[in-house]
Amino acid sequence: MHKTTFFDKYEIISSTENFKGKFNIAIDKICKFCRKTSKENTFKNIPHVIPELLGKNNYTSNDECDNCNKLFGEYETDLANYISPYQTLIGQKTKNKIPNFQSRKDINEKSTTIKYINGNPNINFHDNLSDLHHDFLNKQISINLKKKKFIPINVYKSLVKIGLSLCPTNELKEYTKTIEWLAQKDNYEEIIYDIPLNLFRTRFTNKHYEKPFATLYKRKLEITNNIYEPKLCLVVCSGVLVFQLFIPFCYETENMNPEKYNLVNEIYPAFLHNLDFKGKEKINIKPSELPIIKYDMKYYKQVEEDELIKFSYEKIE
Ligand SMILES: [Zn+2]
Repeated sequence: MHKTTFFDKYEIISSTENFKGKFNIAIDKICKFCRKTSKENTFKNIPHVIPELLGKNNYTSNDECDNCNKLFGEYETDLANYISPYQTLIGQKTKNKIPNFQSRKDINEKSTTIKYINGNPNINFHDNLSDLHHDFLNKQISINLKKKKFIPINVYKSLVKIGLSLCPTNELKEYTKTIEWLAQKDNYEEIIYDIPLNLFRTRFTNKHYEKPFATLYKRKLEITNNIYEPKLCLVVCSGVLVFQLFIPFCYETENMNPEKYNLVNEIYPAFLHNLDFKGKEKINIKPSELPIIKYDMKYYKQVEEDELIKFSYEKIE
């Protein structure tokens, strides 16, 4: 059995499952992010705690003004490019439809496209057949999908924003610097972070969450023994993907000497969701089949990244 210490160290403090904040147009509001009231800013858009590009959902809130909502929407464009093509491949319904995938391309090329039709992804390679590899021996087809460019820091910010939306007010007081950083759209590469902006991603092999969910965890214990485990940890699940990240700029790190502390990122056991307990006496866990990829998301420049998707088959008809 794969051992996890995550739940020894962290406990749930908030989640979309128990989030109470359903959007109500008729009440007085104050924005959680810029602190403007409904007398100063408009609050007409319906803000989602989890953006609907991660899956259709009804987790809405009352504490995000239209200005902040617009800014977060810009970050979310990068998040959408970053997670494509999964939403199309698995038929994840976002706002009102399953998105189509269009690959990154050079000027004279045609994109590889994926459309989800009648319960299956339909891939059209056009003239990009070099993206398709067929391994006859192992009966495997692999497809290299060139995602559209995205800005890593914006992806990270769009996820941190989910964490702060879930964050109870008493905890949020310790993250004023995080909120300031979220609002800075431009290039601030000279920023010194208290923790690395690591994003951990797991991909399920036999589970698919149509409705996304997010859970905010808090460290149970005080800091000890020169080891620093960040206070808040966010887990977001959408379709076949699970993301884990830690919220930067907690007050407690302000007077900490980073050289004296070893940072520990306790990994969330996402593989637990992949298990099927029904009618099985023994569960075989193969964490190696659920690789966790670690991304460094501190960059302000657009990056190009491909997703390698593998299919196994028994015979070709
Ligand atoms: Zn605001």
